[in-house]
Amino acid sequence: MPPVFRFAPSPNGYLHLGHAYSALLNFDLARQAGGRLLLRIEDIDAARCRPEFEQAIYEDLDWLGIAWETPVRRQSEHLAAYRDAIDRLSALGLIYPSFESRAEIARLVAEKETGGAWPRDPDGAPLYPGTAKSLSAGQRERLIGQGLPFALRLDTAAACARAGRLSWNEQGEGRAGESGEVAAYPEAWGDVILARKQTPTSYHLSVVIDDALQGVTDVVRGADLFWSTSVHRLLQQRLGLPAPAYRHHGLIRDTAGHKLSKSTHATGLRELRAEGASPADIRRLVGLT
Ligand code: GLU
Repeated sequence: MPPVFRFAPSPNGYLHLGHAYSALLNFDLARQAGGRLLLRIEDIDAARCRPEFEQAIYEDLDWLGIAWETPVRRQSEHLAAYRDAIDRLSALGLIYPSFESRAEIARLVAEKETGGAWPRDPDGAPLYPGTAKSLSAGQRERLIGQGLPFALRLDTAAACARAGRLSWNEQGEGRAGESGEVAAYPEAWGDVILARKQTPTSYHLSVVIDDALQGVTDVVRGADLFWSTSVHRLLQQRLGLPAPAYRHHGLIRDTAGHKLSKSTHATGLRELRAEGASPADIRRLVGLT
């Protein structure tokens, strides 16, 4: 079976040099391995994703000379698959609803921090400080019945206790040079949100479901997602899904050393193209020949 690679952008802005690097690397690796390249549009965030950004992704990738298989999978068209995974995790007793707003969570964290540092996840966000896990089934039903917004969280400790030791096969440079079999620490993320009342999924859940449903064998993505792989391995293990090989690549930085953002026009592919850059120039700029 040929290996299956994928590039999975979110249409919440225009692509920049960092995306070009990731997409070209996936394209080159797939070609070298005689493999397939899929494109997946990660558009579950209805508030931030826009059709014109999706259209621009196709145009920019095509301009770069990248070819991908069709049909393209758009996550917003597969919410039932994610809901089904939530139901399965719920049936395993690994999901609970929490009802605090973002402001309440910030207040709880500030309260905890009067007694010393509160643990943060690998992205620097405070772990969930609430106590919703200990609500009774009756209390949960009552709060949901009142129409309160809620988030569905993974009971990470329970999932880890049942999963045992987990690791993944890292073929890239990791975040700080880690490679080979890397130990996963999903506990570092606390009880991550897997879905919300209005959106039956999250980045972590849909990426895991889609990689499995699409038969992805090789995940090549930025090192900013390196530690997210811990959560992905835990979800794969609990849902009985295969683990792809991972290659986390270094991030393209601006001249000040910052990670690129979709609002930095200087490195936007459209801007560079308008200024006369060729696809070969883009390859050179990201260090690919
Ligand atoms: N949609 C994610 C992003 O644009 C990438 C997800 C992944 O490659 O796992 O950052």
